[in-house]
Amino acid sequence: MKCEICNRENILTFHHFIPKCLHKKKTYKRDYTKEELSKGINVCKYECHREIHNLISNKDLGKYYNSLSKLKNHTKLKNYIKWLQKKKGKQDGNIFG
Ligand SMILES: [Zn+2]
Ligand SMILES: [Zn+2]
Repeated sequence: MKCEICNRENILTFHHFIPKCLHKKKTYKRDYTKEELSKGINVCKYECHREIHNLISNKDLGKYYNSLSKLKNHTKLKNYIKWLQKKKGKQDGNIFG
């Protein structure tokens, strides 16, 4: 499977658009259905996922970056994706090298 952020074949993990730790909060329970809360994307376990959570706090993720297009519009994440795709050409799959 391919990562939905950087489009590379990789080990993937599921990223919730609305981070799980927010699911129990009243406002999220009130404003979103269970189905909406369980939405997300498959992203690289060690690179893209880590980077998403490095760059954006859980609160901001739930509030402002709760869809793929919004995530991809995050300036720093955009730069990161560009950088990854450049790097790919040089190292050719050796992501831990
Ligand atoms: Zn996540
Ligand atoms: Zn990725």
